[in-house]
Amino acid sequence: MATIEKELQGRAVTTTMRAAVVHGFTEPLSIDVKPIPIPGHGEIVVHIETCGLCHTDIHAAHGDWPVKPNPPFTPGHEGVGIVTALGPGVTEVEVGDRVALPWLGYACGTCEYCVSGWETLCPNQQMMGYTMDGGMAEYARANAKYVVKVPFGIHPAEASPLTCAGVTTYKAVKVAGTRSSDLVAVFGIGGLGHLAVQYAAIAGGRVIAVDLSDEKLDLARSLGAEFTINASTQDVVAEIQKLGGADQAISTAVSPKAFEQAYGSLRRGGTLVFVGLPKDNYIQLPIFETVLQGITVVGSIVGTRLDLREVFELHAAGKTRVIFEERPLSDVNEAIADVDAGRIPARIVLRP
Ligand SMILES: [Zn+2]
Ligand SMILES: [Zn+2]
Repeated sequence: MATIEKELQGRAVTTTMRAAVVHGFTEPLSIDVKPIPIPGHGEIVVHIETCGLCHTDIHAAHGDWPVKPNPPFTPGHEGVGIVTALGPGVTEVEVGDRVALPWLGYACGTCEYCVSGWETLCPNQQMMGYTMDGGMAEYARANAKYVVKVPFGIHPAEASPLTCAGVTTYKAVKVAGTRSSDLVAVFGIGGLGHLAVQYAAIAGGRVIAVDLSDEKLDLARSLGAEFTINASTQDVVAEIQKLGGADQAISTAVSPKAFEQAYGSLRRGGTLVFVGLPKDNYIQLPIFETVLQGITVVGSIVGTRLDLREVFELHAAGKTRVIFEERPLSDVNEAIADVDAGRIPARIVLRP
């Protein structure tokens, strides 16, 4: 630690940084020069090495959701980097630690959700890259209690997608309650789905991957999916019912239609987990079948710090593969266009 401090002191003192900033929901992001943040009590400043681009960032930048962020703001909730400064009272991390800055940027720590292991439901939470500036910048400020240390040996570009896409799908599989031999249908093989396939398989599930692209389905197969269904050429519901119906369906897709197909693919007693957040907010579900077939529908939002630690532990042990493509932060608008058009294999990771 002493060496790093000396190194930092030896460097020419820079007080400004580049950050991707949303100024308006109809404008492209701009790369602005801003002051490097100063950590307050309990806060740290992190020199960002990589930050993944999540669909949520695109919805944030476009103001797509009912609760909108307040521009100007910097998106990004897959920031990974090295701690460079500590505010007063920080005991959780040290300068030089590599940490991840997930969606849950702050929670109160005392409400009934926080104390019962559901900090992700805290009504007083702050969201990284949404209600506080996120990781798409050279530096980001974070609450020391809500960052998660990245274990030695995990490359930051791999840690980034794990910080949202990984923890979100890991938690979804936990919420689904997948046990060995369960048939698990994963809808949408993108940034989230390619990891959902792996976590469902790790939990012992037999995985069915559903997507519109054969390329994505090939990827899913290489990551452990036993069955693949192309929703553009096959009747998804009929094909999954032929296999006996899914015990659990996890929808990471961006169209409400996929959520309805996921519902229809369930067997009696099955569970549908909502994970993706399409721009169109509503789907139609039948009450009669839900009651008579004992169907469970449940929403799952990101994961806790413990979930993320487990995600990193699995990755460090070589149990998961992260598919990503690196791009410079200055290309953020092109990256958004490519994600919107489905022109990327799974995840784009931006380098400030
Ligand atoms: Zn995300
Ligand atoms: Zn709370």
